[in-house]
Amino acid sequence: MRTHTCGSLRKDDDGKSVILCGFVHKRRDHGGLVFIDLRDRYGITQIVFDPEKGSQAHEVAHKLRSEFVIKVSGNVVARPDNMLNKNLDTGDIEIYATELEIFSESQTTPFEIDADNLVNEELRLKHRYLDLRREKMKSNIITRHKVIKYMRDFLDSQDFLEIETPILIKGTPEGSREYIVPSRVYPGNFYVLPQSPQQLKQLLMVAGMDKYFQIARCFRDEDQRGDRQPEFTQLDMELSFVSQEDIIKINSDLLFDILTKFRPDLSIKDNQVFTLTYDEAMNRFGSDKPDLRFDLEFKDASSIFQNTSFNAFAGALKSGGVLKVMKVAGAAEKFSRKDISELESVAKIYKAKGLAYISKKDGELNSPILKFLSDLEVESLLKLTEFNEGDIMFFACDTFDIACNSLGHVRNAVAKKLNLIDESVCSIGWVTDFPMFEVNDDGSMQACHHPFTSPKKEDLEFIDTDIFRVRTNSYDLVMNGYEIAGGSVRIHERDLQAKVFDLLGISKEDAKERFGHILTAFSYGVPPHAGIAWGLDRLIMILCNEPNIREVIAFPKDQKAKDVMLGAPSKMPIDTLEELSITIDTE
Ligand code: ASP
Repeated sequence: MRTHTCGSLRKDDDGKSVILCGFVHKRRDHGGLVFIDLRDRYGITQIVFDPEKGSQAHEVAHKLRSEFVIKVSGNVVARPDNMLNKNLDTGDIEIYATELEIFSESQTTPFEIDADNLVNEELRLKHRYLDLRREKMKSNIITRHKVIKYMRDFLDSQDFLEIETPILIKGTPEGSREYIVPSRVYPGNFYVLPQSPQQLKQLLMVAGMDKYFQIARCFRDEDQRGDRQPEFTQLDMELSFVSQEDIIKINSDLLFDILTKFRPDLSIKDNQVFTLTYDEAMNRFGSDKPDLRFDLEFKDASSIFQNTSFNAFAGALKSGGVLKVMKVAGAAEKFSRKDISELESVAKIYKAKGLAYISKKDGELNSPILKFLSDLEVESLLKLTEFNEGDIMFFACDTFDIACNSLGHVRNAVAKKLNLIDESVCSIGWVTDFPMFEVNDDGSMQACHHPFTSPKKEDLEFIDTDIFRVRTNSYDLVMNGYEIAGGSVRIHERDLQAKVFDLLGISKEDAKERFGHILTAFSYGVPPHAGIAWGLDRLIMILCNEPNIREVIAFPKDQKAKDVMLGAPSKMPIDTLEELSITIDTE
């Protein structure tokens, strides 16, 4: 239908007769002359309707309104040098229309397509097809396409095979609730939507595929949080005959390349990829995905207070807890009482009982807890933290997990408040050696990563005696405080895999019923293998500088897991349910 797009014409095209199609972006009707900005995916071109140059077109042009879809035939005219529009790529020319056809009219849209920031997200999601017409959203979708294409090309050049795995499967337990799909043919039986293609990609290694990847859709029926969606996309990989270092190398290279290509404005912190074990990351930064764009770090003061008479510390330390302290140099003046109580609320969200602090102003130490501490304790603390005039330090004393985690969140809040984050820098690195098991809130035990993760050889001896001491060959790729990707070296020994199921409290019968396929496959020759999965939505969110992943997904669910455009989830007709042997208890 068209000879050119709305983004393609330049000065050199002067005099050409062209046909463009698109949406009316803006219209200025001066009676005599009508101007429109015509928009398509590629750009915007100014069209002039002049009765002298095309009387039919000019007449119809009076009817045009925003977002009408039209076809315009006309001639390219170079604009005089003093009339160039520097804001448009096509700003050196305009089209004098000779013919105009209106394909489709548009009602007034519920929000302006031209607006930069729209606040009503519900309205945007309801009319997502209009929202996607906006420049920012369009550019996010294009970036998403380009990043995925870049990944495909990168992996293809390294001999990976892209292999699809099924969506209707049997559960692959990775710790989240699964979406289930009733089977019509087998009443009372269900498929499960994959949380990830975990078991299938391992079976591809058993199949000898050697290097697999997939842009994989995953489904997790979890309560929604800021950057979560019930369905999301992973770049999923699995490789045979590789070590943890191999996986780390390939994926660091891929991330480096992506950042160089898509965010050349960002410099990589210290021009290197950091590596921390899980223990180091928690001990020093209070997070398994620490944001290292800023330097705040903890010290462990547990030993100083072993025999303290200050009850708030003594109790936690006696029962095996820790005392972590974070000094913020030169910031004593910057925290008002209100600021400190806000930080305390942050700590409390993460289960801390409070947030103690000590500051030093005009040579005086200030703190509500000072009177409970001995001189020796205070002195040792000042020495440990190298405390100076104008400094402030915050404490967390609790179980290891609560103390580190709550102070870790305080660390982030302090960085935000003091503007310590340099947005032009990107910190990337790996956190490794996660524990094998963790305890759920209900006291049950679950695999930290998933049950297919291999224990570290040197920790195998504790597997029957001190299970929480066992660490795994696992690794997360971390960027600016986000987990971008995570994976592990897998168990490839049948007996060890069966043992892990057993440790997780899965009976032999259950293991056979739920994982029989893996255990059977593992009796036919299994290459040592390892893999990883990237949270693609989150990566693209960061690359596009967006605050949440909905901004980089064409048709996302809202924060309550609803598709407000389609109206899903929705009720089903009774006879459809009957066919599936489902009855709904409406009481
Ligand atoms: N399947 C894992 C996940 O979704 C990633 C992996 O271990 O490869 O987190």
